Amino acid sequence: MTTKFVFVTGGVVSSIGKGIAVASLGRVLKSRGISVSVLKLDPYLNVDPGTMSPYQHGEVFVTRDGSETDLDLGHYERFIDVELTRASNLTAGQIYRDIISRERQGEFLGGTIQAVPHVTDAIKQHMLSLAQMSEAEVIIVEVGGTVGDIEGLPFLEAIRQMRNEVGRDNVCYIHLTFLPFIRATGELKTKPTQHSVRELRSIGIQPDVIVCRSDYDVDEGIKHKISIHCDVPLSGVITLPTVDTVYEVPLILEEEGMGELVIDTLGISSAGRDLSDWEALVEGIKIPKQQTLPIAVVGKYVDLQDSYISVKEALMHAGMAHEVDIEVRWVRSEDIEQQGPERLLEDVRGIVVPGGFGQRGVEGMILASEYARTQRVPYLGLCLGLQVMVIEIARNGLGKAEANSTEFDPLTADPVIDIMPEQRVITQMGGTMRLGEYPCDLVADSKARAAYGVPSISERHRHRFEFNNDYQEAFESVGLWPTGLSPNRKLVEIMELDADKHPFMLGVQFHPEFRSRPNKPHPLFNEFVTAAVDTLREGGQHSLPLADSSRAAGNRAARSQVADAC
Ligand code: GLN
Repeated sequence: MTTKFVFVTGGVVSSIGKGIAVASLGRVLKSRGISVSVLKLDPYLNVDPGTMSPYQHGEVFVTRDGSETDLDLGHYERFIDVELTRASNLTAGQIYRDIISRERQGEFLGGTIQAVPHVTDAIKQHMLSLAQMSEAEVIIVEVGGTVGDIEGLPFLEAIRQMRNEVGRDNVCYIHLTFLPFIRATGELKTKPTQHSVRELRSIGIQPDVIVCRSDYDVDEGIKHKISIHCDVPLSGVITLPTVDTVYEVPLILEEEGMGELVIDTLGISSAGRDLSDWEALVEGIKIPKQQTLPIAVVGKYVDLQDSYISVKEALMHAGMAHEVDIEVRWVRSEDIEQQGPERLLEDVRGIVVPGGFGQRGVEGMILASEYARTQRVPYLGLCLGLQVMVIEIARNGLGKAEANSTEFDPLTADPVIDIMPEQRVITQMGGTMRLGEYPCDLVADSKARAAYGVPSISERHRHRFEFNNDYQEAFESVGLWPTGLSPNRKLVEIMELDADKHPFMLGVQFHPEFRSRPNKPHPLFNEFVTAAVDTLREGGQHSLPLADSSRAAGNRAARSQVADAC
């Protein structure tokens, strides 16, 4: 079977939702029974986004095989409901690193290494091996950036050459542009699109389809103009207006005829299509909800919400399942340090502390965790969120005022969170954390076990620090239990506060948000939102003291038997 390729480029401006469009096209093709894989090409020179600040790049999406990738892979996974691997994100940094290392080994002795053919060949080779590995009928390749960017040129040249590599009938070029609106004349302008297509054609790529993003309705006259100037049949001009929910995009693309257009261009026959599950999903999202649930996400990168995009989506998915509108309140943890938690968290029904690195803002997260515990507000800690929950309980529940993570205070008297032994010796940055999927056994009779409904799970990790087992008994005496453990019992992956102390206070050392899907919310987010919805029913909140140690001791005995058995 020959794998066919759809290449998607962007024009005019960035941030017009190319990733969502690609993910949506993937869903449209999948709804026709076509197997799809996706590749994001990133023209920057970093090897991967793992070492970049979230402010530069947004979230780092971790695949199950432990690669740190572009956040667009999150869109692909959520929309197409697939699990991708490191092969689905290729950067210029990776290409150059590999070529230079081959050069140092003498592979090119006597030769000059050039952008064409060596760099372009390496890019093409990657696409062809993904085709072989994935066995997908169609691979959608998204070229990051905008046509005209200097660093994007080798990638555009490579996708041009792919036409000859796999045959003209096996490739489809889609160009996504933006139509600006000029208020003074009340018009949408096509000129930037024309220029962008001209630029693309100067590289040798004639698009088969032009997708025009716009904040306003696009009339037939505009489509006609684009068709004439860009040499694309009228049916090949697709409009994609700005919508309330991104999950609507597959339906709009389908309505605009994108599915037919792509399969016709590629000469694929498909036995009908079925987007009914997706239609039901979007209908569910659009139905006005009785209740709004304010949930705080307390982090240090909240000014750029893309930094936590999978967390936000996972909350939305769980909200959809509960038929409530989740109103995410982005709370800067440093603001909590300055203003105290009460003002900023007063009326929220749940608190999430997501992942993060470095000391800045951590004390604010610890205050948020304390507020959640003492005010009985449902709390979900994700990676760093687990760690701050542990530090807070050590300080305020165990009386260890100096307790900390050695990430923030290497000399702390009470390192309740400490660097993992295998991480101690690592000096190189980039791809060296504990990354990717690891198994975890769940302790019976715990919230985690009840949420997942199975005894063992696998979740994706990205961290260097972990819970320090020397403190396990002390924490158990105040009702904080490890309820998820690595199969060899050495690593604590989940901790939760006793049900009689708190309705839902649970932290995980992994990132469940990466595995949530719009129509399959993640079990932990689901349980968290259930607890948050329950607070609406209960009305007010009231604080409870931490441990009643006699009861905790009884619980400990019961739990350790279960832990042995699990
Ligand atoms: N900085 C912490 C660690 O490395 C938490 C990481 C995270 O939240 N992803 O362990």
